[in-house]
Amino acid sequence: MQLYTKISIALVAGAVAGLVANLFDLEILRTVLVAIEPIGNAWIRLITMVVVPLVFASLVVGTASLGDISKLGRIGGKTVLYYLGTTAIAVTIGLALSNLIRPGSRIDPEALEGLRSTYMAEGASRVELARDAPSLVDILLNMIPRNPIEALASGDMLPIIFFAIFFGAALSALPSERRDHVIGFFDGVNEAAMVMIHWIMRLAPYAVFALIGAVIARFGLGVLQSLLVYSLVVLRGRGLHVAFTYTAALRFLARRGPREFYRKIREAQLIAFSTSSSNATLPVSMEVAEEKLEIEKEVASFVLPLGATINMDGTALYQAVATMFIAQVLVGDISFTAQFGIVLTATLASIGAAGVPSAGIIILVVVLEQALAGTGVDPAAGIALVLGVDRLLDMCRTAVNVTGDLTAAAVIERSEYDYALKHGS
Ligand code: ASP
Repeated sequence: MQLYTKISIALVAGAVAGLVANLFDLEILRTVLVAIEPIGNAWIRLITMVVVPLVFASLVVGTASLGDISKLGRIGGKTVLYYLGTTAIAVTIGLALSNLIRPGSRIDPEALEGLRSTYMAEGASRVELARDAPSLVDILLNMIPRNPIEALASGDMLPIIFFAIFFGAALSALPSERRDHVIGFFDGVNEAAMVMIHWIMRLAPYAVFALIGAVIARFGLGVLQSLLVYSLVVLRGRGLHVAFTYTAALRFLARRGPREFYRKIREAQLIAFSTSSSNATLPVSMEVAEEKLEIEKEVASFVLPLGATINMDGTALYQAVATMFIAQVLVGDISFTAQFGIVLTATLASIGAAGVPSAGIIILVVVLEQALAGTGVDPAAGIALVLGVDRLLDMCRTAVNVTGDLTAAAVIERSEYDYALKHGS
């Protein structure tokens, strides 16, 4: 049986077990499911353990073997532009749907009161967390590590990427007798990381069952009911983004068959969905890119780690819909100018969100504060409204985020190929 078939079965089985526990209020089943959740968390730790050595080694090797620094600048520029462009499209889709469907005007006032009283304290604590989040200038500044070992030790992705590229570029400037054994060493590290991922992935089905079972068992179905229209708008927006934006990018820019592409990346999507973390999924997406999609290492090892940190279309789209929903409930409509502001802030905020569970709802504070400035709305009250379904939406948005990263890798690889053809190299 293929691995993704096993993971899919585990996902469905976990969801069914969780649903049964929830629907029939089976305390024993719920306790069992919550008790086995550490199996899932242990697996997330295992796969996260590989992230730093894998990203560092593969980026050093990838950069050092580019042979040409200008190529790096070209790939970097294209990648960032592509990421920003697709994210802005995602936000626009979210806004358009929210204007059309108006989820905020379809919620019943009693449910609203319930949400507010249940989640207000948690909403306030998210606002506190967001206050500690660095500003955009700080994010850019923090990209340059003061001490690369510190960045590696704390797993800060952007400074690691920065240093690895710088180091790889320096290596490529050395004479080959100096360079080759260092590159050989990191190549070995990279391959060993890939072997670890293969091993860890064999355990993925058990982890997925444990993770999904516990999430669904804990989840209150009543919340889903009261936020159904809102959740559907978020999900439909993401569906549209994948079906149109990514499919078009694959067909016209990457010139690959979308159906085949989506089939090959299923494993990465399932892991993203189950872990709600782009960072934890990174080793899987790198493996999928190199082995299934046959994307060159030098492109995959650059585009994917960067994407896991800065490219979050699912998160940005969600922030747009959540902001519109909260505004529609609390203050009524917001103007088109303010909505244009949402396109900008949601795109930037999604860059600032880390690839970990619930990062999106913390950064949502930034978008809310900007969009609702002057209305006197307390962001904590806004967040309290949407917090109940956040975990479920987080799973889906992470799957979209990872799909976006892999699509980008295919697009960038193709454009490099075309460039090489045109310039005869
Ligand atoms: N969990 C998401 C991710 O890792 C981030 C978010 O919360 O939106 O991609």
